[in-house]
Amino acid sequence: MEIDLITLACERAALLPKEHPVRVYAIATNKRGQILAERGNSYHKSHPIQKKWAMAVFQPEREFLHAEVSAMIAALKTGKKIDKLCIGRVDKQGNRKNGKPCIVCATMLEQEFPHVKIYWSKENDE
Ligand SMILES: [Zn+2]
Repeated sequence: MEIDLITLACERAALLPKEHPVRVYAIATNKRGQILAERGNSYHKSHPIQKKWAMAVFQPEREFLHAEVSAMIAALKTGKKIDKLCIGRVDKQGNRKNGKPCIVCATMLEQEFPHVKIYWSKENDE
């Protein structure tokens, strides 16, 4: 289940604009594995929640929406219980990279969604 969603997240991350130095895609699901929301990272859009956590960990430059924060905001709007967040990250060539959330996202997830299980892609040789 988690593996498939991570593969899906990586495939979708690979569809994000190639000029983005980092391409990350996050998928939030309920307990049955149904997708509640999915988002890629943005280099243009900011959001008060992203900004709040970027400031909280003294990394104000990370105010643009990361896939994890973006997907969780969208998933919350469904009103359904979020069970998992699967994160895929790829490089320019579309190869899997380690998708571990950055300090901003990790802090937000830990504080606001302590019960949500987080999974992320690993590099092929990890
Ligand atoms: Zn992040």
